[in-house]
Amino acid sequence: MTAASRTINLSHGPETLSAKHTLPPLPYDYDALEPYIDAKTMMLHHDQHHASYVIKLNSTLAGNPELQDRSALWLLLNLDKTPLELRVSIRHNAGGHVNHSLFWRAMSPAGRGSPAPVGALAEALDRDFGGLEQFKRSFNEAGEQLFGSGWVWLAESRQDGGRLQICTTNGHSNPLLQGHFPILLNDVWEHAYYLKYENRRRDYLHAWWSLVNWDEAMRRYDRASDQAAKRDWEDEGGMVQGLTK
Ligand code: MN
Repeated sequence: MTAASRTINLSHGPETLSAKHTLPPLPYDYDALEPYIDAKTMMLHHDQHHASYVIKLNSTLAGNPELQDRSALWLLLNLDKTPLELRVSIRHNAGGHVNHSLFWRAMSPAGRGSPAPVGALAEALDRDFGGLEQFKRSFNEAGEQLFGSGWVWLAESRQDGGRLQICTTNGHSNPLLQGHFPILLNDVWEHAYYLKYENRRRDYLHAWWSLVNWDEAMRRYDRASDQAAKRDWEDEGGMVQGLTK
């Protein structure tokens, strides 16, 4: 647990034990991603949608103190150790919490940070997709073709010698459940783009590249390639503020 999350941990008594999971603050202002993502979308997305997953996760766990010290990621990866009647809610809300926490950090204000990947991640994108532009095209296509609400990901395969792959997940699932390590993700639920882009998901997907936080993607790729770190995948929540055990 980080110092920051400890200070906002509310588990001081039985009546507040359920408030263990906390909403991580946005790492930038609501309007910092303008004009590609508007401030109102960011406010609703973070303060309402993401917050609701945290609230519902806490209320789902309220009657199960033995689960309240577990990270959201641990809960996702160990659903078989949770009560059957809670699993749907845990999968949805812990998944929503994990994915959105990753998503805010996958973006940064346009023009800040590295404009493109370099080093090991750039080499891997060349190796597995034929280059950055080809990767972006395939990622966009996957996002466009995903039916309904879900996410599009760049992940490192556990198989195939650690090749990079693009995958999509429905609802709030996560490639970690298939053993693949997430490097980059985009939210293609309508709530992520509808106010500004309406039904034009394709336009949102194209515009989103201006916001990608390549430094974070490179950091995650370096972590995924670290054999010692790989053994600690279940502790990946420790890389996301508010998700530590
Ligand atoms: Mn979302």
